[in-house]
Amino acid sequence: MKTAFITGIAGQDGSYLAEYLLNLGYKVHGIIRRNSITEHQRSRLEHIGKNVSLRYGDVLDVSTIDKAIKEIRPDEVYNLAAQSHVRISYEIPQYTVQTNAIGALNVFESVRNFSPGSKIYQASSSEMFGSSVDPDGMQRESTPMHPVSPYGCSKVFAFNQLRNYRSAYSLFGSNGILFNHESPRRASNFVTAKVIKNAIRIKCYPNSGPLEMGNLDSSRDWGHSSDYVRAMHLILQHHTPDDFVVSTGETRTVRDLCRIVFELLGLNYEDHVVVNPKYFRPQELPFLCGDCSKIKQALGWKPDYSFEDLVQEMVKKYMDEMQ
Ligand code: NAP
Ligand code: GDP
Repeated sequence: MKTAFITGIAGQDGSYLAEYLLNLGYKVHGIIRRNSITEHQRSRLEHIGKNVSLRYGDVLDVSTIDKAIKEIRPDEVYNLAAQSHVRISYEIPQYTVQTNAIGALNVFESVRNFSPGSKIYQASSSEMFGSSVDPDGMQRESTPMHPVSPYGCSKVFAFNQLRNYRSAYSLFGSNGILFNHESPRRASNFVTAKVIKNAIRIKCYPNSGPLEMGNLDSSRDWGHSSDYVRAMHLILQHHTPDDFVVSTGETRTVRDLCRIVFELLGLNYEDHVVVNPKYFRPQELPFLCGDCSKIKQALGWKPDYSFEDLVQEMVKKYMDEMQ
């Protein structure tokens, strides 16, 4: 039986990844942070709670990471822990960089010192590309990185640090450069979940006020988390450590997202969406569209979900919860 250790296991991706690995027969371990409302901390893991081995921990608390890595000596380490919200990274830049950059380094160091045979997956991000787009309008592994947020900068550090540990110490460390991915487990302050939850609110309670949004003109390449955790696992099964873009290759604007979601509910978004500059970012990343040819060719990965499937699943789940 293979063992996996997941930081950020209680998050959107961590919960899908834990489920996926359990189904493959892995023994799954993870760290969760202490929270004063215990139920909130584990809510995404409720359905698999008894099958995963959880302990309290934090990537900034070196002793807990060292202890876990020493005890478990996992076959695979997935470092998903992060302050993952880009706009919030402007409000708490130091905390974001501590967690996403130094926290990742703590995990890599722990593996180097106590379990150098463990393979490491680092949750890298399309935000690392920032303002950089290739002439064909896509981003890929070779696209220069010009991050435009504290979040993006922190992820570039961890990305490079893992590549450095790969060449300096021969660790098996791979980066998945994942474009935006969503699901019914996405936190409500990301744009997909926010638009869908509010459109349902407006459908059910027409006089409950408009949906206040930020920039409607940025474009994102949105996939489904369950497809993307499958890619994370595949990346660690490759014969050599490497870096892979994971994306759908399609991009849509936030305005498109609003239009499609409201139309699904029989509404016109223009009647209900207002722009509030409060949600603008100090610097916007205007366009993301990923070329995932490398992972398709090398590992045979492709997404199962279309954008429409993703939106419909999220609408259905939130509708069911409202009733
Ligand atoms: P998420 O839902 O925000 O989950 C992040 C998890 O990390 C949460 O469980 C959080 O714990 C935990 N965490 C935060 N700070 C921590 C710390 N100091 N020590 C230990 N755990 C900590 O994010 P996600 O969407 O699952 O994303 C997973 C990873 O992929 C993140 O690294 C993210 O930056 C990266 N990524 C995501 C996307 C995307 O579109 N979703 C795209 C590219 C890359 P709490 O539950 O206690 O807050
Ligand atoms: P990100 O790409 O990781 O920052 O994911 P988000 O889902 O937070 O944002 C995606 C895009 O939606 C960004 O270009 C945001 O500026 C844009 N956006 C527009 N209005 C909002 C909003 O009210 N909330 C969020 N989270 N994003 C918004």
